Amino acid sequence: MSKQHILAFPYPAQGHVLPLMELSQSLTKHDFRVTFVHTECYHNQVIKSLAHENPTGYDQIHLVSIPDGLEPGEDMNSVRLLTEEIHEFMSQKLEELIENINQGEGGRISCLIADESCGWALEVARKMKIAKVVAFWPAAAASLVLKFCIPKLIPVEIIDNDGTVLQNQMVQLAQKMPIIKSTNFMWNCMGDTAAQKIIFKFMSRSNKNLKVVDRLICNSTYELEPAAVITLPRIVPIGPVLASSHLGNSAGSLWPQDSTCLQWLDGQPPCSVIYVAFGSLTLFDQTQFQELALALELSNRPFLWVVRPDIYESTHFPEGYEERVGPKGLMVKWAPQQKVLSHPSVACFLSHCGWNSTMEGVSNGVPFLCWLYFADQFLNESYICDIWKVGLRVDKNKSGIIMRGEIQNKVEQLLGDENYKATASKLKRMAMTNVKEGGQSDKNFKNFIKWVQS
Ligand code: UDP
Repeated sequence: MSKQHILAFPYPAQGHVLPLMELSQSLTKHDFRVTFVHTECYHNQVIKSLAHENPTGYDQIHLVSIPDGLEPGEDMNSVRLLTEEIHEFMSQKLEELIENINQGEGGRISCLIADESCGWALEVARKMKIAKVVAFWPAAAASLVLKFCIPKLIPVEIIDNDGTVLQNQMVQLAQKMPIIKSTNFMWNCMGDTAAQKIIFKFMSRSNKNLKVVDRLICNSTYELEPAAVITLPRIVPIGPVLASSHLGNSAGSLWPQDSTCLQWLDGQPPCSVIYVAFGSLTLFDQTQFQELALALELSNRPFLWVVRPDIYESTHFPEGYEERVGPKGLMVKWAPQQKVLSHPSVACFLSHCGWNSTMEGVSNGVPFLCWLYFADQFLNESYICDIWKVGLRVDKNKSGIIMRGEIQNKVEQLLGDENYKATASKLKRMAMTNVKEGGQSDKNFKNFIKWVQS
């Protein structure tokens, strides 16, 4: 019998592509054929990045692309990707792709797994009569709860119809869920008001698209966020998806991973290194960048700092910095993050708390220092600091800057208190038990596979 054919469709951003790529990898081990669709812009950058390395285990996945309708030179992270105009264009391209695949030799598509944020792709799947339609939520279940609560937040005037906050207050969406400020709702801290409105509309609409799906799976576990999972009876947690694979995550990477840092880590004392990485989207102004640089220098501890190529271009280190720091600090443009976090020399993770970084830190028992920017990071931080108690926040001063003294203090507090490491190790055991044979996420995943095969 020929293999069943799954089409995987991520939202085109690093934090969405990587977990769906890992999930696809697991599916190929269960004898599915997987075609993985990138947008053209994203595809070109991944292919460029892959040219620098030779990831293993991804040969079963067929990478293809569809045009994204962006203008030449337009930023891949443009909010225009969320607009109706581009959806119409991409829907048509996705339909053409599915038609071509169905007529080819690889076998008809029997299941589409699309990012929950690509509701329009889920509708295309229904229209094209794909038998099984699955939404994949790559973030915390709690952030999906927040999206589903949008219709309740409007009549009580916490937000208006555009998502603008009317009442600045602390909000807890269900008992035992993280408490966050209304001003920190996911759609609020994404830049200008126009962008906020587009993002809010997009989020409200994707809730409706979920009605067409047969299954809703997410990269989390029941034990990590029981209150949120119970609030969403349809959600099936199968995570941490990344922690269940030991291959690393280079096949969907936007930048080549610099693995030389692993040898550098080998040379450091156990549990000594501050690992600093802020995901794929966060930006720094020069003042903040310098404060961080100086804090790491003054910490007197070894550090490994990911300074992405675009940050290298837009900022500069303090005068004579690299010489002064010498072998104590290593800066790389992009790291094999999962491998770094599992290295015994790593003591803590200074992170922007994207959900993937959060899951990766948790799965490796690493305590966090939380340095936030936007989107779901506030909810994730609340899990880390208030609920799981495996990290500390670094706070901005009145001018909105995180000063070197604050960073140094929090590093000392975190590493000076053994409870953080002990709690993080417990949390790791709990998270990893989930994905091991017989764990809850493992059972959910196997049931999901049976259903896809049926
Ligand atoms: N990542 C990586 N190397 C780096 C920094 C990040 O491979 O040097 C990966 C990281 O392992 C994670 C992803 O990029 O899987 C970032 O996702 P996350 O949700 O944490 O943040 P986002 O980029 O979406 O803000």
